[in-house]
Amino acid sequence: MNYRHVFHAGNFADCMKHALVLALMRMLTEKPAPLFVLDTHAGTGQYDLASDAAARTKEAAGGIARLLDDTPPALADYVGTVRALGFDPPAGRLYPGSPMLVQALLRDGDQMACCELHPEDHARLRGRFRGDPRIAVHKRDAWEGLKALLPPKQKRGLVLIDPPFEDPSEFTRLRDGLGLAETRFRTAVLAAWYPIKHRAPVRAFLDGLTTRDTIACELLLRAPLDPARLNGCGLVVVNAPWRFQERAQAILDALYDRLGEPGAGGGAMITRVTDE
Ligand code: SAM
Repeated sequence: MNYRHVFHAGNFADCMKHALVLALMRMLTEKPAPLFVLDTHAGTGQYDLASDAAARTKEAAGGIARLLDDTPPALADYVGTVRALGFDPPAGRLYPGSPMLVQALLRDGDQMACCELHPEDHARLRGRFRGDPRIAVHKRDAWEGLKALLPPKQKRGLVLIDPPFEDPSEFTRLRDGLGLAETRFRTAVLAAWYPIKHRAPVRAFLDGLTTRDTIACELLLRAPLDPARLNGCGLVVVNAPWRFQERAQAILDALYDRLGEPGAGGGAMITRVTDE
């Protein structure tokens, strides 16, 4: 448990994941039926980008900080929501994590469960959501949480799986976790984040997926040739809402336009991994 998300909060990978998760939540809340959201690796919910930890890496400088001026229309909802939740420089420096973004869109009848295993991060998240009866925060292993918390009583929902990728077996656990989530909560939308350093492990991961109706949304800042660098990232989406792909492509294109390295062989693409 060495990973601390504050070092990476607001970087290009957060922008991609959070903009797409927000779009999924917007589409899911278009219908009145209640939702259940499971955030398996929830983090602390909010990150102080003025803190020493965030200032040490300055990762947000290559992410959210580049989207604030002349925000492209496809990113207006994401950037507006992030501003409203506390990241509105120069005064506001609090960047929202995935559970806080989801909380902003939850309706009265919706529910969310969050798993966070790090004791300090769990305590912070629990404190943040104390008083919101829609949200339960568990100090529980993510993979164990998929078994224990699914299926919910609601028929619709979102399962977000966002592992730290600290060890090489994470791709295998993610593949198995997606399969388990689909088996237990078949009607849900599933979203899972993964890093792209070089192509081979990502290709093996996508080729091994067993879920139906699966797409891979990817943002590459540069060609994934140096395995020591985070060259891009992806979000696998299972059972995406109708027309999500169109909206996601516009979001990815706008992110690549702002954050990609010109002429370095990167790009923004969505590929179908398995059929509906
Ligand atoms: N989803 C968050 C967001 O977008 O704001 C960021 C999550 S961060 C990439 C991964 C988190 O998972 C860390 O806070 C880490 O402490 C936690 N974590 C690591 N292994 C875990 C496990 N097995 N079960 C639950 N949480 C875990």
